[in-house]
Amino acid sequence: MALQIYNSLTRKKEEFKPINSPSVGMYTCGPTVYDFMHIGNLRTFLLSDILYRTLVASGYKVKLVMNITDIEDKIIKRAKERNITPSELTSKYTKAFKENLQKLNILPADVNPHATEYISQMVEYIKALVEKGLAYEKDGSVYFDISKFPEYGKLSGVETRELKTGTRILSDEYAKEDVQDFALWKAVDKDEVGMMSPWGWGRPGWHIECSVMSQEQLGETLDIHVGGIDLMFPHHENEIAQSEGKTGKKFVNYFVHGEFLLVDGKKMSKSLGNYYTLCDIEEKGFTPASFRYLVLTAHYKDQMNFTWESLKGAQTAYERLKSLVSGVAQSDRTVLSAEKEEKIDEYREKFWAAVNNDLNMPQALSVVWEVAKSNIPSQDKRDLILLFDEVLGLGLGDVRKDTDTDEDKELSGEVKKLVEEREEARKNKDFKRSDELRDKLQEMGYEVEDTPEGTRVRHAKK
Ligand code: AMP
Ligand code: ZN
Repeated sequence: MALQIYNSLTRKKEEFKPINSPSVGMYTCGPTVYDFMHIGNLRTFLLSDILYRTLVASGYKVKLVMNITDIEDKIIKRAKERNITPSELTSKYTKAFKENLQKLNILPADVNPHATEYISQMVEYIKALVEKGLAYEKDGSVYFDISKFPEYGKLSGVETRELKTGTRILSDEYAKEDVQDFALWKAVDKDEVGMMSPWGWGRPGWHIECSVMSQEQLGETLDIHVGGIDLMFPHHENEIAQSEGKTGKKFVNYFVHGEFLLVDGKKMSKSLGNYYTLCDIEEKGFTPASFRYLVLTAHYKDQMNFTWESLKGAQTAYERLKSLVSGVAQSDRTVLSAEKEEKIDEYREKFWAAVNNDLNMPQALSVVWEVAKSNIPSQDKRDLILLFDEVLGLGLGDVRKDTDTDEDKELSGEVKKLVEEREEARKNKDFKRSDELRDKLQEMGYEVEDTPEGTRVRHAKK
């Protein structure tokens, strides 16, 4: 069964068909690196990761591109406030962003183009739009003339009839009511951060970077473009206008937008101040993996209200799953056993039916729990769940690393029970039983050591 994905362009769920199968070109709008990411931002990057993992696990060769916006109004303002250069500010937050991704087990993009490295390509692109009569210069800035692009509004459905031709917006961000010509190039004072262009000293607008960098990396038409729902207008609408205006070709085949993470019913955002970072979560004793688990419990097209209570629930469920997987010895088998194969196939089909149904991860998680609670052999259970984890990305197979440092805490209930039973047998000088239990623990992949304090077990190092 092929992946069905909701395409914002057609407002329908559609079968995913890449232009050049098995190659897939995927672009995700990356962060503006002027501050730490909040967990709302991270929800959107998790959507990108789930989609990426799904495509890879389905056999596609995906090239994933995610830009880093390192020149933009907020960056320049904050660097000025802190009396540092924009690049000092952006390198700090780019590093923090990548650490966040790593902690959440989000696979790195193949390319992370930085806006500052593509300025000359942006200038060329803007020149081409001016030459085609789609953009015009005014007081050293260049604007895209949206009246020249009749399809403006096709993604977001904004009304362009009310449009007052020639009204302009210079800011990078504007509201739905402001359907206006937008800046491709912004004139700035000589003492401001900028660069020379055919129109004088200035810097690029925000939207142009994504058209330029995505097309440089992936060609004129992208298979998939991902971002948060707030990017649909004006950002993605403007990307379409610039790109299709310039090339005359379709810019994106599938636009995928993720819904917001909310706090108390309101969008989590920097401007409202109602946000948490991954650091805040860790300081409260939660692991990044539990946040990943929590995100998987909601469909990406549904808003999700964040509460500490729900995170606690996610952490408990995640740990239960992790200990179930770690409690079973690593199998040397590369294929699942023939035993109960039918049942296993059925679970696998159910899991993929959920994932392929517009990334229905809550449903996919429920299949994982069905497997966890089933009576299939525990090694098959483990293998199957780890197979699913290639898409879920919960790092369930990484438990060995954690347990090496804190064995006791991580031992599953089953192992603890066997250890206690063995202690009892040793106390009663029942050495036959004690040896049997040691063998059993070893079979499960544990080293057993008798110390004056009692039995110590730890995962056998590979
Ligand atoms: P920014 O760095 O502001 O460009 O945002 C990075 C990504 O996070 C974009 O795709 C935004 O759409 C997304 N985003 C911002 N706020 C939220 C939120 N509360 N929930 C989900 N995604 C968000
Ligand atoms: Zn973008």
